[in-house]
Amino acid sequence: DAKTNLYVTTQSDIQHLLKPRKKFSHKGLYGHALLLCGGYGKIGAAVLSARACLRGGIGLLTVQVPQAGYTILQTAVPEAMTLTDKNRKHLSELPKEIDKYDVIGIGPGLGTERVTKTAIGQLLATASHPMVIDADAINIIASSDKLKMQLPRNKVIFTPHPKEFERLVGKVKNDYDRLQHLREFCLEYQCYVTLKGSHTAIGTPEGKVYFNTTGNSGMATGGTGDVLTGVITALAGQQYSLEEACLLGVYLHGLAADLALHAVGEVAMTASDVIDFLPKALLHLS
Ligand code: AMP
Ligand code: MG
Repeated sequence: DAKTNLYVTTQSDIQHLLKPRKKFSHKGLYGHALLLCGGYGKIGAAVLSARACLRGGIGLLTVQVPQAGYTILQTAVPEAMTLTDKNRKHLSELPKEIDKYDVIGIGPGLGTERVTKTAIGQLLATASHPMVIDADAINIIASSDKLKMQLPRNKVIFTPHPKEFERLVGKVKNDYDRLQHLREFCLEYQCYVTLKGSHTAIGTPEGKVYFNTTGNSGMATGGTGDVLTGVITALAGQQYSLEEACLLGVYLHGLAADLALHAVGEVAMTASDVIDFLPKALLHLS
């Protein structure tokens, strides 16, 4: 609705966003993503984001993990190139040639160590890439006004769950209040926010809010958010605008889970099942 700037995404809206691949194309046309994810004990988050990013159609993927994650990443995600941090357990530095990447996804499994805070400060001070910021990267930014001030305009997609969102914007009283905070935050920082929940709300820098219509309670399990980070990163690295990447990514992620429902049901569903059904979700839309 144009008066209230509230919208509901339907399958036909989403369907026409999806761009078919060109016959004479090569991996260079589909973007090179950098994922900064995973910490000791949570390297699995990097695996989930990386696999989802590949299923989202990225041309090339590099994942930087702490040293403890090297063998895990190379084994679990052979398609991804792996860089290692000098730190054994946590993100503490940025990769050297950061300009060569088209998009950066950061957050899942990172932890909130001091060294990681410093690395995120460096990222915000130097990088002008489109960025998908999730999980502990949100928690770190939320805890520092200095980092918030450094956020580049019109480049950032935040993907908080309700608790991470409250860390960003402060305590939320009710659903209406949450919507107001969503709009104000997106306007103030000129960013996109996918506020996750059973009806994920997507806020834009122009003050629009879209409600997603896919997804089910089988997704209420660890790791599904990490999958969304990978999918949105993949789309933002291809020829999609940040708004399209949010709308399409959230829709596809929920649709994959809806298709997984028939195969595994909502009790047994895991984040890996959602990744496994991303191909069917894409086929369903094309
Ligand atoms: P996270 O909390 O970061 O792992 O993200 C959880 C993901 O699962 C988000 O994409 C949510 O929108 C989704 N999700 C969680 N619970 C539900 C639910 N009951 N219905 C639909 N989607 C859900
Ligand atoms: Mg999460």
